[in-house]
Amino acid sequence: MRKIVLLIAALFALATGPALARPLTVLISIDGFRADYLGRGVTPNMSAMAAGGASAAMRPSFPSKTFPNHYALITGLRPDRNGIVENSMEDPAIPGVSFKMSNHDAVVDRRWWDQGEPLWVTAEKAGIRSATMFWPGSEAPVHGVRPSLWLPFDQSRSAEARVDQVLSWADLPLDQRPQFITLYFDDVDTMGHTYGPESTEVNVAATRVDAAIGRLETGLRARGLEANIVVVADHGMAAISEDRQLFIEDHVAAGTFRTLGTGAFMTIVPLPGQEEIVDKALVGSHEHLTCWRRGQFPARFHYGHNPRVAPIFCLPQTGWTVYSRARKPNGGEKGTHGFDPAAPEMAAVFVASGPAFRAGVRLRTFDNVDVYPLVARLAGIEAQPGDGHLHPLRGALKPKDRSGSSLGQAH
Ligand code: AMP
Ligand code: ZN
Ligand code: ZN
Repeated sequence: MRKIVLLIAALFALATGPALARPLTVLISIDGFRADYLGRGVTPNMSAMAAGGASAAMRPSFPSKTFPNHYALITGLRPDRNGIVENSMEDPAIPGVSFKMSNHDAVVDRRWWDQGEPLWVTAEKAGIRSATMFWPGSEAPVHGVRPSLWLPFDQSRSAEARVDQVLSWADLPLDQRPQFITLYFDDVDTMGHTYGPESTEVNVAATRVDAAIGRLETGLRARGLEANIVVVADHGMAAISEDRQLFIEDHVAAGTFRTLGTGAFMTIVPLPGQEEIVDKALVGSHEHLTCWRRGQFPARFHYGHNPRVAPIFCLPQTGWTVYSRARKPNGGEKGTHGFDPAAPEMAAVFVASGPAFRAGVRLRTFDNVDVYPLVARLAGIEAQPGDGHLHPLRGALKPKDRSGSSLGQAH
């Protein structure tokens, strides 16, 4: 009898074997890696991935900032629905607190993140282990759940050390090894801000991150591990100049408003009693600048219904920046982002390769929320209904992986 039970157990293990042997899924974000950097000849590993897999220029969500777009990529919801509407924001339901990337208490507070469900949360709920080698939101217990393995954000940790951490997680025994892993690099964005998108420094940083990706591939290969690797960026980078600066006080009187952010756009909160004056002065088109009321953005931005969106939002022409005279321009930056997601300068890189991908596929530009159903499919995690669609990316997959039969849920 015992033998029969063991035999049945062995047969069951055989039948479920392919699920255990599923390739790892690694989602890599290179902050600020503009789509056209891939064609500069400075990233040999990513070029090889594109040749052996799929690549595209990807449209970020509005606004083209870091936290809103990382959360869009990992939840499949645009910022208006995922709740991270800006890097800096306020919420009438969370009074007295300003959310900022540098405000650690806010970054780890799930109330800011709970409007979306990151893929690692869905995975963990389904008993699939996940790991985050940094990703905005991964330090908060979103919906009460954290990735099985995660680390507090530490910008000083080198690209190699981040990769080696991922490889050490890949070394874990099968029952502890994460099936879905995120990996984040900030270097290219930092250099883009400081030196501008056309600088040698950006190319050097791109080469550095590319080498780290090569190190990951080599490390996985040495371990005999198959992986589907998806490389994305949150947004691109536009050159800015002191010759193209706007000051909001040229349109509205100082002392009638406060602002949560300036640069590639400006968020305006009228002071109590000044609402009508500020609205009348700003809403509409100005030279190099357009301002919208919350709730009245162009439909293509899919933005402005969340109560966290500031009452007035002013967006300059791409490459121009807007400031308040009371709040000085960002000390000599040569590049920034936050502009119209349709601008070519804001386009983000997408490269994917691995056993699920066909070779040499160049996809048409798609929205970054479409990455979510792809990654969910690769990792065998049930995609939650959202703003993204798999179909713009389906052509990148091998026929057996398109239907979802071998890779998990259809979407
Ligand atoms: P941005 O100002 O939109 O260009 O944001 C880029 C910056 O976001 C990076 O240089 C990092 O300092 C910061 N950042 C990225 N991920 C995190 C995180 N998980 N927690 C805090 N800050 C982060
Ligand atoms: Zn960014
Ligand atoms: Zn940036």
